[in-house]
Amino acid sequence: MRSPIILFDSIAMPTLRTTIRDTFLRFGRETVEFVYSRNCVHCHQQLPSEAERFQASLSVRVRSRLCADCFELLSCSVEQACQRCGAAVGPYLDTSEGCRHCRKDTFAFERVFALGTYEGPLRECCVRGKQPFQESLTAGLTELLIDAHQDEWPELNIDAVALVPHHWTERMVRRHLPTETMSRVIARRLMVPEAVHILAKSRRTPAQSSLSPSRRRKNLRNAFRIAGGARLDGLTILLTDDILTTGTTADHVARVLKEAGAKRVFVAVLARGIGTTSEN
Ligand SMILES: [Zn+2]
Ligand SMILES: [Zn+2]
Repeated sequence: MRSPIILFDSIAMPTLRTTIRDTFLRFGRETVEFVYSRNCVHCHQQLPSEAERFQASLSVRVRSRLCADCFELLSCSVEQACQRCGAAVGPYLDTSEGCRHCRKDTFAFERVFALGTYEGPLRECCVRGKQPFQESLTAGLTELLIDAHQDEWPELNIDAVALVPHHWTERMVRRHLPTETMSRVIARRLMVPEAVHILAKSRRTPAQSSLSPSRRRKNLRNAFRIAGGARLDGLTILLTDDILTTGTTADHVARVLKEAGAKRVFVAVLARGIGTTSEN
């Protein structure tokens, strides 16, 4: 029987310095979040009291820490999404072979799960979620993402949650990475191990948004690797990223995971960008 927890503990153990730093940063973030925990993570208006929340049984909204207005605004508004790339498509469209946004692409991942399209309030939240002390906003959106696909997660049999890695120099500068928050929330909710140290980025790369579609693939060549040469034989990995546009980044990382033996890779993103205006 597979034992992913043991596997990840042995191959992806963070250094003591990393652990102390992460613990310190998380304590600081959680202190700030506690101070603001009675306010909506998006618009900051005061949330109902604990008693009112309990009486109303607003379990999903309580988890996401959004007020009623923002909850309506940001909950999954996509009626139907492509079964392959997660893009919003028209009703009753068969997307088992993809949609007009992805039919010509070859992806190493099986499918993308998104909360919605990268536009309007969701786009605003994704942009703001990258700022310092906005971890709770990303966590709230991730809760909505999980709820939007709650019937589908059990069928995937996910063994571990991983994330699209950043280069260590970028990690030093940015105190909060949305992907780390996402993978932590998803792992907790789906009760699967978190494998945040399984992947590494070997070099810094220019932002994907600054490149043409053809240069995006070249830009990421050999940029990602499995930490410590670990094997993932037969495992199903859920890969998290905040936004997916062309799918080039997720595809590169999924290929690395599969070369290490992963059987299937699914991708979870907050927003699915259409066009060339976003990052990945
Ligand atoms: Zn609000
Ligand atoms: Zn598609």
